[in-house]
Amino acid sequence: MNNLSKNYINGEWVSWSGPTLDVHEAGTGDVIAKVPASGRDEMEQAIAAADAAFADWSESSLDQRIKVLEQLHAGLKERAGEIAETVCREVGMPIKLATGIQAGLPATITKTYLRMLPDFPFSEQCGNSEVQYAPVGVVGCITPWNYPLHQVILKIVPAIAAGCTVVLKPAEIAPQSAYILAEILDGTDLPKGVFNLVSGEGQTVGDTLIKHPAVRMVSFTGSTRTGGLIAHAAADDFKRIALEMGGKSASVILPDANLAAAVKGTVNNCLLNSGQTCTALTRMLVPADLHDEACELAAAAVARMTPGNPLEETTRLGPLASAQQRDKVIDYIKLGIEEGHTLVAGGPEAPEGCDKGYFVKATVFGNVKPGSRLEQEEIFGPVLCVIPYQDEADAIRIANGTQYGLSGAVWSADADRAKKVAGKLRTGQVFVNGGDFNPLAPFGGFGHSGIGREFGKWGLEEFLEVRSLQL
Ligand code: ADP
Repeated sequence: MNNLSKNYINGEWVSWSGPTLDVHEAGTGDVIAKVPASGRDEMEQAIAAADAAFADWSESSLDQRIKVLEQLHAGLKERAGEIAETVCREVGMPIKLATGIQAGLPATITKTYLRMLPDFPFSEQCGNSEVQYAPVGVVGCITPWNYPLHQVILKIVPAIAAGCTVVLKPAEIAPQSAYILAEILDGTDLPKGVFNLVSGEGQTVGDTLIKHPAVRMVSFTGSTRTGGLIAHAAADDFKRIALEMGGKSASVILPDANLAAAVKGTVNNCLLNSGQTCTALTRMLVPADLHDEACELAAAAVARMTPGNPLEETTRLGPLASAQQRDKVIDYIKLGIEEGHTLVAGGPEAPEGCDKGYFVKATVFGNVKPGSRLEQEEIFGPVLCVIPYQDEADAIRIANGTQYGLSGAVWSADADRAKKVAGKLRTGQVFVNGGDFNPLAPFGGFGHSGIGREFGKWGLEEFLEVRSLQL
């Protein structure tokens, strides 16, 4: 990466000599890169470039779009090792997982759109009308640090495929993979101005992006707080929004489930990326008479997840992405103790042998009370709440008892019963008995978890306006 000190605007790497943002290595705390803390002017230039490029790109042929996405896919494959190591260092996800997820998933998602595009109906007949699907316009993409390239790809690939032009503002904490992406796109046949990258802070360049009248849609992934600011700004100008925000997802273990398998599946999901995952199953609901056994199984599972250097192939639990995030998670662990929940494993002290870097112990609380702050608030760290319930109705009530609704799980020996309970969860996706992740299925939230859907055809439709011609 030779361009970290620049922004990518109108097909050019534009130098920046103003203030910069430090990027830290999660496992050591060392500064490993510096990127521009750009000003509002740079963002305005990027928006102007995207606006100017829209007329031509919105009329580009499907073949032209497919060719660019094929070139992008090849570039993502070619630079996969570099992407995995970059994100592993920034975010702390162990290298083995980062290779499969942080580097692998962006290529997979791009491929799903390449497969879908040739048959996607950009127009259809409805009686005497032809219904056309037209690109929405200039799209502002604002992304977080936990899956930094994946979240960018989920936005820019369908946006470009739809015929939109894009301005990306990546997360301050993990911006480098977005630079790799920009370098790859720079080497493709994408016309100048269709994709632009401006690095900087949310309150400055992000704020300009979400309020600019030329931007007709904002696609955002991040905190519910920032999503709220974006929704307010969009209301003033009737912009489209797609928001993917927080979660406090429930894993409902029914009495007849294979308890060991269900606890193992829940703990693995909860601790993925050290809990820095919006879909993490952070609340494990168990029948009251199985609570203690479930806690023992969870404690045994987290004991195997000792934190370590994320660059080591054998590490299963890495550090958190920043000092701020580590401190926030430790404060939640202290809160859990103050609120009187049972500390079953882990705790607020730094894990042994991890005095550098942003490490937190994998922690399990038992007898967690529904309605408490620990049970209600998104922690974004390796902290599991075990919650006893009385009967199925009680479990569903607790599962649906937060402001969020992003993910969930149900476990039962009876597949029909599991599906029936899954259908009562007010959430955008439910894993039934450990069902596989599906990159073609829609992803998004109910309630404060979001508006709109990503992945598959639903992700593409977000970037399309509908026009009907009466013939
Ligand atoms: P997180 O807690 O995951 O960092 P944030 O919502 O703070 O979540 O950040 C997600 C993205 O939103 C980042 O790229 C950040 O810079 C951006 N952001 C933060 N505040 C604003 C804002 N006021 N306007 C626009 N973007 C913002």
